[in-house]
Amino acid sequence: MPTPPLRYTIRPKNLEAHSFEVTCTVSDPDPEGQHFQLPAWIPGSYLIRDFARHVVSIRAQTGRRQLPIAKLDKHTWITPPESGPVTVTMEVYAFDLSVRGAYLDATRGFFNGPCVFLRAIGKDARACEVDILPPRGARARTWRVATTLRRKEAPAYGFGVYRAADYDELIDHPVELGTFALGEFQAGGVTHAIAISGRHEADMDRLCKDLRRLCTTQIALFETPAPFNRYLFLVNAVGDGYGGLEHRASTALLCSRDELPQRGTRALTDSYRTFLGLASHEYFHAWNVKRIKPAAFTPYDLERENYTTLLWAFEGITSYYDDLLLVRSGLISEQDYLETLGRSITSLLRTPGRAHQTVSESSWDAWIKYYRQDENTPNSQVSYYLKGSLVALNLDLLIRARTRGRKSLDDVMRTLWVRYGQTSAGVPEDGIERTAEEVSGLRLRGFFDRALRSTQELQLAQPLREMGLEMQLRAAESWSDRGGKVQPERPARPPIAVGARMTDDPIGVRLTHVFDGGAAQAAGLAANDVIMALDELKVNMRNFEQRLNAHVPGDRVDLHFFRRDELQRAQLEVLAAPADTCGLSISTSDRGAARRRANWLGTQSS
Ligand SMILES: [Zn+2]
Repeated sequence: MPTPPLRYTIRPKNLEAHSFEVTCTVSDPDPEGQHFQLPAWIPGSYLIRDFARHVVSIRAQTGRRQLPIAKLDKHTWITPPESGPVTVTMEVYAFDLSVRGAYLDATRGFFNGPCVFLRAIGKDARACEVDILPPRGARARTWRVATTLRRKEAPAYGFGVYRAADYDELIDHPVELGTFALGEFQAGGVTHAIAISGRHEADMDRLCKDLRRLCTTQIALFETPAPFNRYLFLVNAVGDGYGGLEHRASTALLCSRDELPQRGTRALTDSYRTFLGLASHEYFHAWNVKRIKPAAFTPYDLERENYTTLLWAFEGITSYYDDLLLVRSGLISEQDYLETLGRSITSLLRTPGRAHQTVSESSWDAWIKYYRQDENTPNSQVSYYLKGSLVALNLDLLIRARTRGRKSLDDVMRTLWVRYGQTSAGVPEDGIERTAEEVSGLRLRGFFDRALRSTQELQLAQPLREMGLEMQLRAAESWSDRGGKVQPERPARPPIAVGARMTDDPIGVRLTHVFDGGAAQAAGLAANDVIMALDELKVNMRNFEQRLNAHVPGDRVDLHFFRRDELQRAQLEVLAAPADTCGLSISTSDRGAARRRANWLGTQSS
């Protein structure tokens, strides 16, 4: 007799109270007593979140008979020995708008499996069925369901029974409920869909066309059929928000509605570029981290932190390819791409923490550092996304240069895909480096030691030059200059830097981060101080920069500021802005370099 599946139901129970009712039924519970558990974290977001904290109530029964259910630790329960089926019913509070949580109100519902589905311990490999039930009332007719869980007895985009091969699969398909806008397109022979919830006026045709180009390019990169037979972009459009979480056949994206393309315009705005970059990033994860995954995640231990030094590769290489594949798809121009790259380099140069933390350490400590950022983060940490993406760039250009264009990071990714992705074998901690050496035939140990395990600066100027690109380092033109563009000529007077990140405050200018070695720190200013006056004149974000720029380096200005509720004074020495802003330009008419660049970016050589 085949082993019976674990049966789940989930129902939007009280929309106004944001609560789902979720059941889990085990037909053959552990004779010693069945353990149930909610995950402490969700794969892809490396922080202990303790989803059990949103469990409002829990009860157990067999048939109609109530059973005691005892709580053993923060997220584990046990029911007594029973021979018949045991059902556990939970009420779960869901009011987290992020892509990693669960949400329910009168307009929509959304959930990630780890937030709502109990693990029946000892039965992880068991097939699962989940009946997704509609809310009561009229919404039962208007709401639909968007998910890549496989349908068992449910109409397309409808309520009903869905299934998964095991618990790991069950919790890797987020579910959207509501009246979302829907578009579909084909890429690589696979049906892709995009479901957009929230108020928006997005041009669905353009979105589908653009995503189709992007997905086709990504599938082609790996030179094998897509590893999923359906893919879904779940998009929640809000006034202000940003985030994405990858899954094996879908992604949940949170974006500002202004990032979506508007009907009647063909322009590629900065904000739409941001959206495409995010979609590209999460889609690439369908290969890199969902299938090619660290041995440390094979399988995931959902009870505690899972440590790996490899997030530089799983997030960094993914961050490198997200924009690169936009240019290769023809969705952004070479110039757009170089600007993005220049901004990334700028961003790294403005992170003093790169002198303290290696990208390997950043990865290992994601659980306590990257995901728990505070006012000192820029001084003490380096992002494995940011530095990881530039290490990937460096590695790609290095392989291309030293093999005279015969090999590239693309080949490394394809080998990782065949070796680890298609076989589901976890990537050992040295697996990326070994594969890169093997595929390229190069000795890369020195490069990796420096780039991953030291805080030495990445040396990008020379590899970029091989591609006919000149890297210009200069001072920021203004406080809003994020880099990316080359400055045609030197400004008449050097711009001034405060050495802090600032934001508007009702009574002045609030410092959010104070950089090590900067003017603000030397003057004794700290994060959360609110500067009210410069030389006894009231300041705000608009005039602060202007007033400082009226000075020359070496001048001293008087500041009045509040620290908590105490008024204080400081003298700030005006310092010239450092050369921490990167612009990239096409430097040469060298034919070879142009050809190499066209090869790399997938553009036509001119
Ligand atoms: Zn990512």
